[in-house]
Amino acid sequence: MYCCQSFENYVLRAGTNGISIVLCSGPKNLQFAMQYRVVSDGMDLEKEMPVISSLQGGITLIATVRVLFCPFCGTELSKIIESYQEQFNELALLHRGISQ
Ligand SMILES: [Zn+2]
Repeated sequence: MYCCQSFENYVLRAGTNGISIVLCSGPKNLQFAMQYRVVSDGMDLEKEMPVISSLQGGITLIATVRVLFCPFCGTELSKIIESYQEQFNELALLHRGISQ
């Protein structure tokens, strides 16, 4: 259901630290986004990374940028969402807590 293996691999990384691709629920439709996380979803920052948690501001822990086209193969992502709407609705529910 994905346009290419690279895109799928990054979707499978959703919620983990580093770069991943998440599915976001927009006001009108679903949209994919590239996300960079310093820490994985659910990580106890104070306990596991006390140095970062002690810093006051100035550090972006999560950055999310919507993407319209696959960064690997160039496919228009709205087309794959339309083709597998039901599956991507389920994925959006799974990603609800990690997409912003
Ligand atoms: Zn692709």
